[in-house]
Amino acid sequence: MGVTARMARVGFVAVLLLISACHKGPAAIDRGRLLAASKHPQQWLTTGGDFGKTHYSGLAAIDAASVSRLGYAWGFDTDTDRGLEATPIVVDGVMYTSGVAGRAYGLDARSGKLIWRFEPKVDPRVHRATCCDQVNRGVAVWRGRVYVAALDGVLYALDAATGKVAWRADTIVDHTRGYSSTGAPEIAGDVVVIGNAGGEFDTRGYITAYDLKTGRQAWRFFTAPGDPHGPRDHPDLAIAERTWDPASRWDIGGGGNVWDGMVYDPQLDLLYVATGNGEVYARAQRSPKGGDNLFLSSLLAIRPKTGRLAWYYQETPGDQWDYDSDAPILLTTLGIAGRQRQVLLHAPKNGFFYVLDRATGELLSARPYVPVTWARGVDAKTGRPAPNPDADYTTGAKLVFPSPVGGHVWNPMAFSPRTGLIYLPAIEGGAVMYAKPDPQRRAGRVNTGAAILLPDSPEQFAALPKSAQGAVSPAALAGAPDLHRRAYLRAWDPVAQRTVWQVPTIGWWDHAGVLATGGDLVFQGSGDGHLRAYDARTGRLLKDIDTGSSIIAAPMTYAVDGVQYVAVMAAAGGGLWYLPHPQNAAYKYGNQGRILVFRLDGAATPKPPPLAPVEPIAAPPTQTASAAVIERGRTLFEANCTLCHVNMPRTGSADLTRLSEGSHAAFDDILLGGLLKEQGMPQWSDVLTKDDAHAIHAYIIKLSQDAYRAQQRKAAPVREVRQGGG
Ligand code: CA
Repeated sequence: MGVTARMARVGFVAVLLLISACHKGPAAIDRGRLLAASKHPQQWLTTGGDFGKTHYSGLAAIDAASVSRLGYAWGFDTDTDRGLEATPIVVDGVMYTSGVAGRAYGLDARSGKLIWRFEPKVDPRVHRATCCDQVNRGVAVWRGRVYVAALDGVLYALDAATGKVAWRADTIVDHTRGYSSTGAPEIAGDVVVIGNAGGEFDTRGYITAYDLKTGRQAWRFFTAPGDPHGPRDHPDLAIAERTWDPASRWDIGGGGNVWDGMVYDPQLDLLYVATGNGEVYARAQRSPKGGDNLFLSSLLAIRPKTGRLAWYYQETPGDQWDYDSDAPILLTTLGIAGRQRQVLLHAPKNGFFYVLDRATGELLSARPYVPVTWARGVDAKTGRPAPNPDADYTTGAKLVFPSPVGGHVWNPMAFSPRTGLIYLPAIEGGAVMYAKPDPQRRAGRVNTGAAILLPDSPEQFAALPKSAQGAVSPAALAGAPDLHRRAYLRAWDPVAQRTVWQVPTIGWWDHAGVLATGGDLVFQGSGDGHLRAYDARTGRLLKDIDTGSSIIAAPMTYAVDGVQYVAVMAAAGGGLWYLPHPQNAAYKYGNQGRILVFRLDGAATPKPPPLAPVEPIAAPPTQTASAAVIERGRTLFEANCTLCHVNMPRTGSADLTRLSEGSHAAFDDILLGGLLKEQGMPQWSDVLTKDDAHAIHAYIIKLSQDAYRAQQRKAAPVREVRQGGG
């Protein structure tokens, strides 16, 4: 074959490739493309980039030498003000992602131009059943469709070209219980799989698989057994039943919810699933005779064709510290003891970093990546942790590390095959926990049955209830890790099992997701609105962009027409979303959701306009209720309202000490009538009476009057008092 003929042939092949690319249509992700993801780093095919969800891209145009030129390319306003946690997917120049309560977006990845927007109509009952904001952690994209789960647990298959609904499936077994969905669906072979949240409420966790084409249910796998007196829902629950007291609190549900980590491995045809904490929290109350309580706080490998268990590994047997194992699962290959191993890497809330052989579930290593006291280590042979009796709060309040906030939660970690390092948002610190007596199930509401206190100073120890003081006695504190809560971006060597470098974040609540790139950069956003790029080998800060929007999600990167972009979704929220953080950008600029995209030689990032100063509290209405009614209102308020309302300005929820005259007048219509249910304020008429509403209103008026008086005192001019006669 001559040179000309060869060139003609190359041209012919190129034309063929072009034709096949055109025929692929939108959102053309399939098994072949997923397996070849590392060869096409311009794409970002899953929320974690590749099938192993490594949050790594081989793109290297932006590197240590060029990153100083990184600037704003485009932005997109989601018109929402709750947290944004998703990592977008980009395929063939189109970005797909999710937003508040399961909204979804299709955007031109070059310009940010909106192609379509999907806004599910969410069952407002779910607003009472969410612990951690109305967030969503992403879409799944597969063969022309985009899959997203709405907050109320309805799974949608959307046409990737138009955003129109192809099918929908209600995935929730009982809407009167505290179920919600916040995780991304996972494509596993011919099915799409989705779990749910609710481990603080009254739910029994499970995942459900649906046929990709039709939405027909294929199988369901419960992660905790049901009452043994009833029928067994799944044959593999026989393994789990042996690890629970038959007299367990089946009425409360058990927990084990799969609200985040799921990864499908097309090489081994296994779906890896991470399960949540036990409910109620204290095992002595949940399963009085003890036991491991499978499959709480575990990793499961499930065959997607049958829904049958291939293997399981429980990270926190008999969990009682809210140690969800839901953190993202990461698949890669590591050289361990001279052998290449297909591994699963996991850093759950319980503080141990796990390396497992993902074909068999064999534990390869488990080493604390933050201070840990609930266990004294993990036996490498048996895979079992050695429990520390000093962390068991069955007989009284105990100090435990990590706190139930966890050493690491949902914020994605990244793995660079170039450095061999994991980049992990890690949280240090402990908590005091104790069980409340005899938990009664409260339908659809929080049922943890335990108190979590996060003291980190002697002043806060003094404020603990008397019954919890022993947990922070000098004897208890002697030898305990540093109580002071803090967070780090930590580079962790998963083979040597040690920290290589770390950078502190602005506070313990600040632990955003991470991206690693072939340019040997690590990107992480921050609550204070800064997107920072670090040297992947040393942790040296190389670039800092002040965006004016708080960031908790993980950045991602992609390329279109040879230009590399870095994108991140920005808005504060998630767990503890209702607490004000004055250091957060959201406190200064508000919390309008944005997708922010950067490129080399981009512009300055436009910041949102700063918020107007907080208005003074207006004079509240006159109190007409008796002291007894106000006290009853306080009890009701603390049982039902404090999960969201901390009554401070600029938090995620309304400051009730600043209610307008109109809101006071419409109080019953809002609380009992559901006047604001579309805005996220639940309707309470099924659990609260008119008398209850009256008592709660009286207590809110008391709070308002107290706050108003404190404000007036502060505002009163200081008069100089002269001594002696005048
Ligand atoms: Ca939990």
